[in-house]
Amino acid sequence: MARTGNHAVVIGASMGGLLAARVLADFYERVSVLERDSLPVGAAARKGVPQGRHAHALLPKGAEIVEGLFPGISRELVERGAVPINMGQPIRWFDGEGYRCRFPSDIDAIGMSRPLLEDQVRARLLTLPNVHAVDDCEVQGLAASADRGRVTGVRIRRGKGAEEEVLTADLVVDASGRGSQAPAWLQSLGYDAPTEDRIRVDIGYTTRLYRRRPDDLDGDLFLLVGPTRAVKRFSFFQSQENDQWLVSLGGYLGDHAPSDDAGFLAFARGLPAPDVYDAIKDAEPLSEPVTHKFPANQRRRYDRLTRVPDGLVVFGDALCSFNPTYGQGMTVASLEAAALQRCLSTGAQGLPRRFYKEAAKVIDVAWNIAAGGDLRFPEVEGPRPPMVKFFNWYMHKLQRAAHRDPVVAGVFVRAFAFIDPPTVLLGPGVMARVLRGNLRRTARDRTRYQVPMRSQAQA
Ligand SMILES: Cc1cc2nc3c(=O)[nH]c(=O)nc-3n(C[C@H](O)[C@H](O)[C@H](O)COP(=O)(O)OP(=O)(O)OC[C@H]3O[C@@H](n4cnc5c(N)ncnc54)[C@H](O)[C@@H]3O)c2cc1C
Repeated sequence: MARTGNHAVVIGASMGGLLAARVLADFYERVSVLERDSLPVGAAARKGVPQGRHAHALLPKGAEIVEGLFPGISRELVERGAVPINMGQPIRWFDGEGYRCRFPSDIDAIGMSRPLLEDQVRARLLTLPNVHAVDDCEVQGLAASADRGRVTGVRIRRGKGAEEEVLTADLVVDASGRGSQAPAWLQSLGYDAPTEDRIRVDIGYTTRLYRRRPDDLDGDLFLLVGPTRAVKRFSFFQSQENDQWLVSLGGYLGDHAPSDDAGFLAFARGLPAPDVYDAIKDAEPLSEPVTHKFPANQRRRYDRLTRVPDGLVVFGDALCSFNPTYGQGMTVASLEAAALQRCLSTGAQGLPRRFYKEAAKVIDVAWNIAAGGDLRFPEVEGPRPPMVKFFNWYMHKLQRAAHRDPVVAGVFVRAFAFIDPPTVLLGPGVMARVLRGNLRRTARDRTRYQVPMRSQAQA
C-alpha cells in the first residue's frame, strides 16, 4: 500500500497512544511512540498511568476493535491468566435499586488488570517493524512551520537534564492523557485553545487486591455495585489473572473510601448492597489499598475550533475523559482509532478537522451516557436540557424493568457495551417492555437484596 507519510510521532504509550500507533503503522513509513515514563518489562503499574492500579473493564466493542487491530490478542490475554466472562451470566450487577437479571448472551468480556492489557498491546505493537517506542522521553512542546500553519514535529528531552531536541514528523498524535498540554501549545502558536465542557463529580477510587477462591460470590466473576441517590458509593469487584480479585471502592462528591484496613472494610459495609463486604470481610488481602481521585468529566472541543494547524491530532483522554465508573475510556479510544483509520484511508489532507468531526460522533454517545448520567444526581452541577432529564428518567425505568426482564437486561448491556447504539433502548418493543416492567413491579421487586439465580437466563 502507498504510504501517506514518512514519519508519525505519538505522544504517550498508554492505551490511547498504542492504539493510535497501530493504526498509523499502516499509513506511515515509521512510527515513534514517545513516553515520559520508563516502560516496564512485563505487566506492571507505572507512574504515568496511576489509574492502572484500579478497576478497568474493556467493554466488548473496545475488545472487538483491539482484536481486529491485533488478531489473536484475546486468546493471548487468556493464556496469560485473564478471565473470560460472559456478559449475561456470571456478572452480578446491583444498579442502586436491585440486581439486573441474568440473560442468555453471546458477548464475552475479559477480566484482567489494566497493566496486563497494556503490556500485551504494547508487546504486539512493538513486533511491527516500522514502530518503535522511546521511553524516558518527555515532549516539551510542538515544532511548527514558519507560517505556523503546520505542526512539523515535537520538542523533546530524552531523560532528565538532557538538551532539548526537535524530532520532525509529518503527523503528531497527542495521546498524553487528560493533562495534555496541547491547548497551551496551540496558543503558543497563535491558535485558540479549545473550549472545555466539564461536569464535576469528585470521584475517588480506593483499590485493593484479594486472593480469589473458586466459590467466592457463588462462582460469579464480576460484581458491580452502583450508587443510589442517597448513598453515592460504588464498587467494582473484578476477577483477573493470578487468581486475584481487584476490589475498587469509590464514591461521588468527596465520599471516598479510606486506605486503612478498618476504614476500607467499614466503607464496603456502607455500600448500597452487601455483597462486597460479605466477600472481603474474611478474604486474604494481597496488597495495601491505593487511592486515585477523578475530579470531572472533561471534554475539549477541538471539533469546534475554527482554525487548527495541519499535522496535529489530539486523541484519547486528551480529547475527552469520562467518569471512569462507566468504563468507557479505552473503548472510546478504540473507536477513535477506528475513526482515524477511516480518515487516513482517504489521505492526510485536512486530517485533524476530519478526525475531530468523526471522533465527536463517538464522544457524543459516550458523553451523554457518562456526563449526562451523572446529572441524574441533583448535587452534580451542569446543564439539564429536557433530553437529559428524559433520558435519565427513562433509564431509571429501564433499569427497573431489567431486574426481571432478561430481554431488557440484554438490550441494555449491549448498548452499554457499545455493541448497539443507544437508540435501541428507545425502540418501541423495548419501550413496551419497560412500561410493562414498571407496571408489574411487586413487593418482591422492591426488596433489594435478591441476587438473581443463573437459571433466570432460561426464564
Ligand atoms: C480510576 C480510573 C478507572 C478507569 N477505568 C476504566 C475502565 O474501567 N475502562 C476504560 O475503558 N477506561 C477506564 N479509565 C480510563 C482509561 O484509563 C483511559 O481512557 C485510557 O488509559 C486511555 O487514556 P490515554 O491513553 O488517552 O491517556 P493516559 O492513559 O492518561 O496516558 C497518557 C500517557 O502519556 C504519557 N505522557 C503524558 N505527558 C507526556 C509527555 N509530555 N511526553 C511523553 N509522554 C507523556 C503518560 O506517561 C501516559 O503514559 C479509567 C480511568 C480512571 C482514572
